[in-house]
Amino acid sequence: MSDPLSTAHGLLHSVFGFNAFRPGQEEIVRAVLDGENVLAVMPTGSGKSLCYQLPAIARPGLTVVVSPLIALMRDQVGALAAAGVAAGSLNSSNEPDQNARVLGLLRRRELRLLYLAPERLARPDTVEMLAEANVALMAIDEAHCVSQWGHDFRPEYLALGSLARQIGGRLQTIALTATADAPTRGDIIDKLFAVPPRVFVRSFDRPNLRLAFKPKDRSSRQVLAFARTHPGESGIVYCASRRKVEELAETLRAGGIDALPYHAGLDKAVRDRHQDSFQQRDGVVMTATVAFGMGIDKPDVRFVCHADLPANVEAYYQEIGRAGRDGLAADTLTLYGLDDMRLRRLQIEQGESSDERKRTERQRLNALLALAEAPRCRRQTLLAYFGELSEPCGNCDLCQDGVERFDGTIEAQKIMSAIVRTGERFGMEHLIAILCGDRTDNVLRFQHEQLPTFGVGTDRRAVEWRSLFRQLSALGLIAQDLMEHGRWSVTEEGWRVLKGETRIELRKDLAVPKASRRGRSAAAPMAVVGDADEALLGALKTLRSKLAQAQKVPAYVIFSDRTLIELVTHRPASPSAMREIHGIGDSKLERYGAAFLEVVRNFGR
Ligand code: ADP
Ligand code: ZN
Repeated sequence: MSDPLSTAHGLLHSVFGFNAFRPGQEEIVRAVLDGENVLAVMPTGSGKSLCYQLPAIARPGLTVVVSPLIALMRDQVGALAAAGVAAGSLNSSNEPDQNARVLGLLRRRELRLLYLAPERLARPDTVEMLAEANVALMAIDEAHCVSQWGHDFRPEYLALGSLARQIGGRLQTIALTATADAPTRGDIIDKLFAVPPRVFVRSFDRPNLRLAFKPKDRSSRQVLAFARTHPGESGIVYCASRRKVEELAETLRAGGIDALPYHAGLDKAVRDRHQDSFQQRDGVVMTATVAFGMGIDKPDVRFVCHADLPANVEAYYQEIGRAGRDGLAADTLTLYGLDDMRLRRLQIEQGESSDERKRTERQRLNALLALAEAPRCRRQTLLAYFGELSEPCGNCDLCQDGVERFDGTIEAQKIMSAIVRTGERFGMEHLIAILCGDRTDNVLRFQHEQLPTFGVGTDRRAVEWRSLFRQLSALGLIAQDLMEHGRWSVTEEGWRVLKGETRIELRKDLAVPKASRRGRSAAAPMAVVGDADEALLGALKTLRSKLAQAQKVPAYVIFSDRTLIELVTHRPASPSAMREIHGIGDSKLERYGAAFLEVVRNFGR
């Protein structure tokens, strides 16, 4: 009975209050307990931390956790402490007595997990101290930071392999990341491991995230409407510019939503204050640039909205991945327009990267455009990019609202002939004016009303033609010049369609969305409870907020949303019944059980 794996099972329940492993966790925990070196590639929210926390508690010896961000460490240490685990971090933003306490625990060999930033680990005094501290395992979080391929490259990560050897000869190492790229994975193995580790790759499917895209049409109104379908819930709205971050925060606030801006141009104090509010208060919506990123470890973000197209498919996946880490239903919406597509292309071409890197970047962007214009299930399209085959998901806009397709060869030919007959020198609005037979000043000036293409598209409205332009662009049939006023040309592939050698299918623009506003797939547990239970849920949230404020920790460190929802649906009447609720281990039961039980009892049945 006392083999390490069954000990780990017991701890899963008694310390963390979880009934079962999430997919992938058990194999990794077993490999770590067997002493293997491991690279774990798992999507955000899949529960990577547990893969080293559980072995750290189940075995003797200290586990050193390397993590790039102090805020992230603080939350993890807080959550572990709340579960009764001796964990600590050493960093410059700690009070001196906090560091002294951690060092004391370390010396007495009572500390189970020590969190460090890579810079701190690299200090000679740290290495020396750890060499004496009976370190059993080094866990390297956000391991993709070691790769020059990623956007999060941190040079200090390059030293981690050799530091591990200085601390413990062949110190057992587990590296963890949510970045799925093959080149990044290769880099991690090269740079962090002396011999190739066991590699575990988990499915990148996050079935609880609803996926949706919409063409931009007055984006601030669209964002407000979306945020209003999530009253009182935490969310993130990503924007491409600081100005837009500020504007949207104002629009949302004017619309009655508790929104705060976050971008690198704000004072650090303001940024920190806003981030703390987001982490600790219920229902704050952060409008942010991507500067608001890796540090977010909040499990109950209920929606992510992209007010502008993300940089590429990787960025998209990472950013929407910040919603619904607790596994409950969460909603995403990405708005996109031709200007966005052009901006993202420009950013790649004008960047400093090598040609090889630019090629990768273009592919990643094209994959996102293909996703935006996807003809069928978005999740299938997204997972196909990560090399996974899957069935239609039932939890994306295309699965739920359906999409009609038609043979678009003639439409494509009309667009392309307008492009070619005007010498591939004009932008979209002018070309659409020609198709629609509008005698605008420019049309008359260039005598384009005399072209045979003039007025061949009067059967469609301008918005429809714009959608068709985007689709042809996403299919690679037409291309937009980045420098010269966005003029369009026909690609080689496009010429084949123009000459009638191949036919193409296009999407009619999305039918009006049905009334349903949330994913209802079986895989996505509901985040909301019935109206009758709302009051109890509200009371439990109030108690949670009070406790969180008193202890200066985020609300979810006390109890996750899922725990509160289960308290509402199960209404436990005794401490032992409470112990069966998700997320309630021995330590939390002791600390908070009585207070929450009282609230539940007061609501009776
Ligand atoms: P990642 O680092 O992979 O993004 P985390 O380790 O932060 O994910 O875990 C995400 C959430 O899932 C956390 O709230 C965590 O408590 C929860 N979690 C982890 N493992 C389990 C499990 N076996 N059962 C239930 N919840 C879990
Ligand atoms: Zn789908």
